[in-house]
Amino acid sequence: MTVKLDQLIAQKMEERGVTLEEIAGLTHFLQSPYFPDLTIETCLENVKSVLKKREVQNAVLTGIRLDELAEEKMLGDVLQEMVESDYSLYGIDEILAFSILNVYGSIGFTNYGYIDKLKPGILGAIDKKGKTGESCQTFMDDLVGAIAAAAASRIAHRKGDELLE
Ligand code: MG
Repeated sequence: MTVKLDQLIAQKMEERGVTLEEIAGLTHFLQSPYFPDLTIETCLENVKSVLKKREVQNAVLTGIRLDELAEEKMLGDVLQEMVESDYSLYGIDEILAFSILNVYGSIGFTNYGYIDKLKPGILGAIDKKGKTGESCQTFMDDLVGAIAAAAASRIAHRKGDELLE
């Protein structure tokens, strides 16, 4: 039996409290000022397309597992402390997110930075969960932000192409 990796990832994210619809909500937040007729359904389709990319799948699987291992106190010594406390100078959570953004070009990076600062919707909820120590969300916030930003970039490129036609 072959497991569809994008479906497995969607399931894993849901187990960790994030749905694809919530990520699509972030994409809508980013792109609706430019395309007022943009629907959540279109955003969701684009989020799903992003999750079909191998680089994205690898980043998400790795990040989620590291959050889980931190919760299980399995990372050992220095790494355990840094990931568990979401140490601000650790930075590898952002670097992993960059591997998702790399696939969709520069618009993805600016969008990622923007929602990372504002933390709208599900990003605010993830941030809260991480800060209260309820669970480890060190990687999850960056992964979710990057997937939403990558989907926004995908939409911008496609809509841009339509305008040039
Ligand atoms: Mg983080």
